[in-house]
Amino acid sequence: MVYILDASAFLNNEGMTLKGNLVTTAEIRREIKDFKSRALFSSFSINILAPKQEFVDMVKIAAKRTGDDDVLSKADVSVLALALQERGTLVTDDYDIQNMCHEIGLKFIPASMKKIKKRFFRKKFCYKCREFREGTGRNGDVCGVCGAKLKTKVVKTEDIHNSG
Ligand SMILES: [Zn+2]
Repeated sequence: MVYILDASAFLNNEGMTLKGNLVTTAEIRREIKDFKSRALFSSFSINILAPKQEFVDMVKIAAKRTGDDDVLSKADVSVLALALQERGTLVTDDYDIQNMCHEIGLKFIPASMKKIKKRFFRKKFCYKCREFREGTGRNGDVCGVCGAKLKTKVVKTEDIHNSG
């Protein structure tokens, strides 16, 4: 079993026990800054892998579709892409990452006991036009009508009864 570890897996999870092949990305490694998380990180034997660009692109396309591209960091994208590539289980307590796991059909487990209860659907909204808009511009976050910067809004939530 391959487990892909997100940075959130190391926060307040001294009790984390995982047996198998543990991997993460260099971006996640850099996000782990506090002493406790670092100590936990070093207590496991974790391989640092880089996801191939095709998997990074797949995650980015899916994130655009759900409107999650505003909330996912480069590290978030890297760990999701690695989980896709390795066909493993993502270990994360980050709700945005868990939400993306549902979207792209990835298995995940929380490092702590809490699990996602809602799935969020987001759309881009222009506060000047007071309308939902498809984003344009280099980052896809500019209103095509008035040129204002678009904000991401949650338009629907859905209850989730089981994960993975
Ligand atoms: Zn507008």
